[in-house]
Amino acid sequence: MTDTMPKYSSIMRRGLRRRCPQCGEGRIFNGYLSIYDECPVCQESLRGIRTDDAAPWATILLVGHLAAPIVPIAVKFDIATVPLTILMVGWVLFLALSILPVMKGVFVGLNWRFNIRDGKPDIEIPTSISAKT
Ligand SMILES: [Zn+2]
Repeated sequence: MTDTMPKYSSIMRRGLRRRCPQCGEGRIFNGYLSIYDECPVCQESLRGIRTDDAAPWATILLVGHLAAPIVPIAVKFDIATVPLTILMVGWVLFLALSILPVMKGVFVGLNWRFNIRDGKPDIEIPTSISAKT
């Protein structure tokens, strides 16, 4: 990690664009969801950054809110069950597959910002605090 830390808003925007949280130029994904060990442009380490269930959770939250308005529209226009099911499945799959990498990019950026590697913050806990636990 370098001495100049980007603002949270920059990190979030870079995550939405699936770019390196440090430089904003390099791609963070090697494929659909695999994270590079380091940024291909600035060589910032991304090793050990995982998002676990955070990205799927945010994706489900967004997809649910974006897919739900179809139901009252289908009721109003009396769309038959089979076309409605095909429409809903297609819409939900499209949304989920589109939003998941974007949400993962955001959480990769946040985990990078808080230096959370392998699911744990990479910080020293003062002995006065750790002795109480
Ligand atoms: Zn970079």
